Amino acid sequence: MSASRIIVAGSLNADLTIYTERLPSPGETLHGHGFAVNPGGKSANQAVSAAKLGGAVTLLGAVGQDANGEMLLASTSSAGVDVSSVKRVAEPTGVAVISVDARGENSIIISAGANATLSPADMAPALFEGAGVVCLCLEVPLETVQAAAQAGHDAGATVLLNLSPYAPITTELAQLTDVLLVNSHEASEFLGGFAMPAADAPVDEWRGAIEKFAGRGLNKVLVTLGAAGSLVLDSTNSAAPVVRIAPTQVNAVDTTGAGDAFTGGVAARLAAGDTLVAAARYASVAAALATTKKGTQAAYATAAELSSAE
Ligand code: ADP
Repeated sequence: MSASRIIVAGSLNADLTIYTERLPSPGETLHGHGFAVNPGGKSANQAVSAAKLGGAVTLLGAVGQDANGEMLLASTSSAGVDVSSVKRVAEPTGVAVISVDARGENSIIISAGANATLSPADMAPALFEGAGVVCLCLEVPLETVQAAAQAGHDAGATVLLNLSPYAPITTELAQLTDVLLVNSHEASEFLGGFAMPAADAPVDEWRGAIEKFAGRGLNKVLVTLGAAGSLVLDSTNSAAPVVRIAPTQVNAVDTTGAGDAFTGGVAARLAAGDTLVAAARYASVAAALATTKKGTQAAYATAAELSSAE
């Protein structure tokens, strides 16, 4: 079976990263040790991850007519992503100001810029024809995400929604979503402050979360737990409603974009015909490898690198 096309619709940002011993407190000034400008943005990262892992990927998004926009088009297209539908607009390309500490933890501030101009009109149904997987996040306007989810759903694609950065979503968008991808913090916010079980809690303790997600129209949820791995929650699978995926043991130096490497990996493997659990297992290895190098897109593994690491 040949893999189906993946449409990633959403954000492209220039990541302005400074490395520091620890993250500053409010009002504090610290000396960092190194600065880098790298291509980023959740959707651009997810598109690059999926393409490097063998997916046929089209990116829908917006960048400015500036050097950051050029950098992003170059990095995504050189990874094999079709960027012919990424529009160039008058607003500056989106930026993310990222601090990374000695333990690889990060804090991030985003200025949306061109991403805020991506509109429902840019999600024309014709762009989604023949798509197998549609991959969305919340770094572009919510009505645009919803239009893309609707177009993907109407085209018969599997709609993945990465609920990040966290924002409330409409009931309609939840119902158009086939697979939700969240970290435990986002999951708790989405469920109204629901106390998520500990990463190593017995399967039974996750039943409450599964029921709460299903009550919001979400039957399949991938919960990422950072260094503790991830979980596949599937209310439609009564035999195995919770599958725990152990983390791949690595020496993490920068976890920025690990979640995007994971999402891209899931998209690539679902498009290739894997089950959700198999796709999540594969994506978990890809995400772990992404933490072993600084940066995001350049740190992502190719399918060949991943198979030699397994
Ligand atoms: P996000 O960046 O969206 O918060 P997470 O931090 O949960 O996402 O990371 C996504 C996935 O990346 C995890 O589920 C895990 O598979 C992998 N990962 C992240 N950090 C590590 C780590 N230190 N060691 C191994 N795998 C990791």
